[in-house]
Amino acid sequence: MDRFLIESPHDTEDCKKVVKSVYALGYLYNCDWGCEAGVHTAWVTIEAENEKQALLVVPPVLRSKARATKLVKFDAETVKAWKE
Ligand SMILES: [Zn+2]
Repeated sequence: MDRFLIESPHDTEDCKKVVKSVYALGYLYNCDWGCEAGVHTAWVTIEAENEKQALLVVPPVLRSKARATKLVKFDAETVKAWKE
């Protein structure tokens, strides 16, 4: 399983509707929101086999505009091995 960051923007006027839908689906705790900073985007990190599966886990209200990015952490050995 890989870790994916899901980013899902929404329009300012849809803000409360989107948040309420996510709440109704019991998914509110999993999301981080930029709304109060004026960045109307929800972020969720999830584990999935691939990008497509990652997007399927996201509630439909967030899925339509969502982008899934596979995340990795680089360890110190990897970075030290990189040539300039
Ligand atoms: Zn918003």
